[in-house]
Amino acid sequence: MSASLIDGKTIAGRIRDEVRAGAALLKQERGVIPGLAVILVGDDPASHVHVRAKGKACEELGFVSVTETRPASFPESALLDLIARYNAEPTIHGILVQFPLPGHIREWKVSEAVDPAKDVDGFHPVNVGKLVLGQPCLRPCTPAGIQELLVRSGHDPSGKHVVVVGRSNIVGKPVMNILLQKQQGANAVVTIAHTGGGDIARWTRQADIVVAAIGRPGAITGAMLKPGCVVIDVGINRVEDPTQKKGYRIAGDVDFASASLVASAITPVPGGVGPMTIAMLMMNTFQAAKAISGVI
Ligand code: NAP
Repeated sequence: MSASLIDGKTIAGRIRDEVRAGAALLKQERGVIPGLAVILVGDDPASHVHVRAKGKACEELGFVSVTETRPASFPESALLDLIARYNAEPTIHGILVQFPLPGHIREWKVSEAVDPAKDVDGFHPVNVGKLVLGQPCLRPCTPAGIQELLVRSGHDPSGKHVVVVGRSNIVGKPVMNILLQKQQGANAVVTIAHTGGGDIARWTRQADIVVAAIGRPGAITGAMLKPGCVVIDVGINRVEDPTQKKGYRIAGDVDFASASLVASAITPVPGGVGPMTIAMLMMNTFQAAKAISGVI
């Protein structure tokens, strides 16, 4: 079998078009322009790349966009004050604090400081709780993007056995909580595999859909998959590669060459889950703007 590609770039482009159209209507009917504030503390080069991409996405959609950059020594209390300022700022509907933060800042404290109505990352405990309960809420961008990828590529998870490898709070657990809800585009039987479960293949071989969110390049190979399954590769790993100008390449958590011979559909890395994350951030900012301005 040779798997078909699940094209995250194209699907993300469609979502951005939908957001653009919805935002134009919101502006026309209510005079509201969605606004996103992104706060970056420290010098992590990857974080700077992510933050620039978020600002660019806002620009392309005509959103209000503010980027606040602070040095790694920025105190936690000052960061909480900055968040409070944007919580009270009416032109801003979404607040995102780029993680990871320097060690002296408690990430849970930061997540809790963001107004849940503006929590476009979906990390505030109120939104996490609502997600678990199956209530409408702002949902974490990457997991919400994974659901969109599955549904829009014709792989509705309903009734399927989804095995998520990885139980992080930002990917694995929210993917599970989204896909197991008794709701449209979900309603799956979900298993989470992690380091406590021994050999990953024991779980992945049972899956109709595998979601790999491990952080280990090529950890899942074709031999670990059930023929005909669907594979969503969340991993973004830098792998040394002297043949590349930068000296490295980006690899997923799945060994694409062997997995694509066994699966029926698979996401590439890059160009799969990655583009969905920013598209869903724009969607969340738009939804937050609508909710805050009383449209929904
Ligand atoms: P994380 O916080 O490091 O969590 C990794 C998870 O994988 C942990 O739950 C860990 O299990 C599990 N794991 C590691 N090795 C394992 C093994 N040998 N067997 C079974 N489970 C294993 O990572 P994350 O933040 O979820 O990110 C995962 C990957 O997705 C990374 O490559 C990251 O860069 C990427 N990512 C991509 C996007 C995107 O937009 N595409 C967004 C977020 C993350 P334990 O809990 O037992 O330690």
